[in-house]
This record gives sequence, C-alpha cells and structure tokens, in this order.
Amino acid sequence: MSVERTLTIIKPDAVAAGHIGDIIKILESNKFVIAAARMVSLSKKQAEGFYAVHRGKPFFESLSKFMSSGPALVMVLEGENAIARLREIMGTTNPANAAPGTLRKLYATTIEHNAIHGSDAPETAAFEISYFFPGLELL
Ligand code: GDP
Repeated sequence: MSVERTLTIIKPDAVAAGHIGDIIKILESNKFVIAAARMVSLSKKQAEGFYAVHRGKPFFESLSKFMSSGPALVMVLEGENAIARLREIMGTTNPANAAPGTLRKLYATTIEHNAIHGSDAPETAAFEISYFFPGLELL
C-alpha cells in the first residue's frame, strides 16, 4: 500500500442538505487528510467535461444538470490506499444497495443524487485532480 491522492466532491444535494460537516467528520475519522478544497458552482459545460466518460449514457444530461444545480465542495484527499478506501466508505452508486454506515447510505437520496463522488482508479484520480487543481496530482 502507498499514500495516494484522490478527488472527492460533496455533491450539490449533500451541500444543500447541510451535510458538508457530517461527511468531512467521517472522512477525517477514516484518516483522510484534506490536501486541497474549493467550493465550486459548476457550469453545465464544466460538469459535462468532468463526467465526459459518461457522455452518451441515458443519464448524462440529467447528471450534468444536477452537478451544475448548486454549490459543491471539491477536495483532494490524501491517505494510505486513498482511492479504494474512499470508494468503500462511499458505498455503491445506488444508495438502495449501499452498505450500512456508508456515506451514500447515510446521505444519498437517489442513484443520481448520491451525495459524494470519489475517483475510481489512479488514472481517473489524476485526470480529476488536474481538472480542479492543476499540478496537485503528483505527490
Ligand atoms: P460512481 O462512480 O459510483 O459515482 O458511479 P458512476 O461513475 O457509474 O456514475 C457517475 C454518477 O452518475 C453517479 O455517481 C450518479 O450521480 C450518476 N448515475 C450513475 N448511474 C446512474 C443512473 O442509472 N441513473 C441516473 N439518473 N444517474 C446515474
């Protein structure tokens, strides 16, 4: 295992519901260090660029609208095995299937409004970190 960086977004639904503090508390108690953080209000174009891999999927339009619907908190998290560990703590995409105690079980409401994003692989983390924090992807 090694120290990694990953990108997380507290999505507009969780920000609007007042869960920034709840989510950061859980991240910190799981030994993630916040290496960078920024509140963003994404334009539709920025949301589409971030989720470009999903272009063409039936939910792409709706997802891009949702992600540009209000403020979101973007963070670079650092820690041992950060990419896989964050995915575990987040829970499955659809909160209906998420394990008890996971962030999505606790704070997501639907498969789309699912509270939090986390990079799913080192290559994705590098792209996503550079999307919001150019130059910060290298440790
Ligand atoms: P993640 O890695 O768990 O975030 O899931 P994906 O990369 O597959 O999808 C990206 C995001 O698109 C998810 O977090 C959801 O917000 C949304 N999403 C994924 N699947 C669906 C779906 O079937 N319907 C809708 N409406 N949104 C979806």
